[in-house]
Order: sequence, then C-alpha cells, then structure tokens
Amino acid sequence: MKTEVLKASEESIKKAAEIIKSGGVVGVPTETVYGLGANALSSDAVGKIFEAKGRPKDNPMIVHVSCMEEIIPLVENVPEKAKLLAEKFWPGPLTIIMKKTNLVPSVTSGNLDTVAIRMPSHEVMRKIIKESGCPIAAPSANLSGSPSPTNAKYVYDDMNGKIPLIIDGGESNVGLESTVITLVGEKPRLLRPGGVTPEELCEVLGEIEIDKAVKAKLEENQKASSPGMKYKHYAPKIKVVIIKADTEKYIEYISSQNKKVAALCFEDEKEKITVPCVTYGKSFDASSQAKRLFDALRELDKTDAEIAYAHCPSEEGVGLAVYNRLLRSAGFDVIEL
Ligand code: AMP
Ligand code: MG
Repeated sequence: MKTEVLKASEESIKKAAEIIKSGGVVGVPTETVYGLGANALSSDAVGKIFEAKGRPKDNPMIVHVSCMEEIIPLVENVPEKAKLLAEKFWPGPLTIIMKKTNLVPSVTSGNLDTVAIRMPSHEVMRKIIKESGCPIAAPSANLSGSPSPTNAKYVYDDMNGKIPLIIDGGESNVGLESTVITLVGEKPRLLRPGGVTPEELCEVLGEIEIDKAVKAKLEENQKASSPGMKYKHYAPKIKVVIIKADTEKYIEYISSQNKKVAALCFEDEKEKITVPCVTYGKSFDASSQAKRLFDALRELDKTDAEIAYAHCPSEEGVGLAVYNRLLRSAGFDVIEL
C-alpha cells in the first residue's frame, strides 16, 4: 500500500473522512501526539488499527468525539464528575473512562465494559471527526512499543506501507499522550498522567487517587487498571537508564563511564557535558520537556552510543507525565546518586 502524506486542508480533511467512513485507517494530528484514526463503532475498522500498530488486542483505544452530544450513545450515563471535567478541560488532553453501552464494540474497548473518551482541541482532528460523522478510535500512531509520534514525518517512518493516508497538521503541541482518569469505581483514579496535571484534576474533583502503575512497575501477577500500563512502552532501540541526581553528580557519573555513552539532558546543561548529548527541554520547564521527550528518544537512536543516561526530571505538575514516560522508555531502570 502506498502511503500518502497531505498537508491539512479542506480537501485533505474530506479525503481522510472518506477513508474513515469506508472503514479505513488514517494518520491524524492531535494536540497530544499523532493518532491512527478509524471508525470506533466498526470492529473491522478498529481491527485494522491493531494490525498496523502490532498492538496487543487487550489494549483498548481512546474514542475521540467533537462535542458532548456525541458521547451520549457511547456511555451508560455521563457522571456529574465527567461533566465538571469536560467543562474545565475539554476540548483538551484529558481522557475520561466511563461505563460503555453495547454500541461500542468489544474490540474498541479491549473487551472491558468501559470506554475511554476524549474531546481533542486540534482543529484538524475536530474537523475530521465532524466530517466522518462517527466517533474516532485513535491510539498513538507509532508501532507498538516505540515512542509516540509528534509530527507527520515520524508517523510516516513507522506506518509507511501500512495505511493509505497521513494528514500533516504540524507539530503536536503537548507532545505526550493525554491524561487518563477513570470515573468507574469509588473514587476518581488517575491511570496515566499527561498534559492535565493531578493538581488541576484535584481542583475540580477534590480528591483523586493515583494508580500505583503511574510510578512503579507492575509485578507479573498484578492486574493493570489500564491495560496499556503493563506493556513496554516509548522505548528507543538504545538502552536508556535514568539518573536521579543534581547536575554536578549527573555529569560526573556519565563522564566516568568506559562505554559509548550519550546524555539525555536539559538544554541548560548541554554546555557542561562532554559526551554526545540530546536535549529534552529546560531544567525547570516540564511543558518544554513534554514537548521534546519523544522526539529526543527518536534522536538518540541516531547516535552510535550503546547506552543513554537520562537526567531525571522533576515529578511535579506535567513533570509527572514526563517522568512516567521516561520510566517506561528506560524499562524502570533508575540509578539514584
Ligand atoms: P494510546 O491510545 O496509545 O494513547 O493508549 C490509550 C491508553 O488508555 C492505554 O494505556 C489504555 O490501556 C488506556 N485505556 C483505554 N481505554 C481504557 C479503559 N476502558 N480502561 C482503562 N484504560 C483504558
Ligand atoms: Mg500509545
């Protein structure tokens, strides 16, 4: 299959919608990362996403809508808390898990009785949803296990020959996948941190729980609340190890290794580092780190280093999402100095 990449325009958006309406898969831009979009209500169409990504069948999709009315047929009821969250954070990088109706096929929900829903803010994605006339299932547009793509070129690198069309809507603004919160259960629980922070969620909901898997590796026999959390994720081909230390100790450590080393560090540290380095944002600016992380992980694979030492980010605010992704890309390998 030949993969076409088209800049977002009225015409290309129509073309994307035609493909989605006829049961195909399109690479679509969103403000979090690029997605692989298909009709969420068609088992066949969603099956093609799993195939293109090589995604495990029990890892459910996020269903994207363009307005509140589109949610009604998908869920048993819209909880009050969901309405509050929607008012504050939608359209935007927040996914809410609710009880699903039978309209949502089990392929889309990974056989769970719940569905993950998000209303994206990216204008191109919103137009594609409207034009397609159906909710769109769209996981990140990378091969399963690789870093998520933040531009159309990276989607092409992973999906060339697997899907007919990619719509280029520019760089993704947030750079990390959405925050995922479940409202099924006693208390709202954060399953995946993202652009909407735990602090912001607490302002709206009062208290929230943070799932253990956000910062820790699940043991073999532990059940994942969010199936995606049990898989290796966001990993470049190079081995990544996280170093928790101040700048001085970090630099001292990476300089003393007798291996081909690369540094995954902050822009403001670059000048002091003597090994090859790739930067991901500024030391005290988690949003800039979020925007750069996946890009930086892909760049690391272009160095000839055997191992990359990543300087650990702060875990505050959006930093929790950055730390969560970095931990997975490092296979939870952390050295504290
Ligand atoms: P991605 O689409 O690649 O951004 O991944 C979506 C994430 O949302 C994965 O980690 C899924 O496990 C999670 N997710 C989607 N639907 C559900 C659900 N119904 N219950 C729990 N987690 C979900
Ligand atoms: Mg993903």
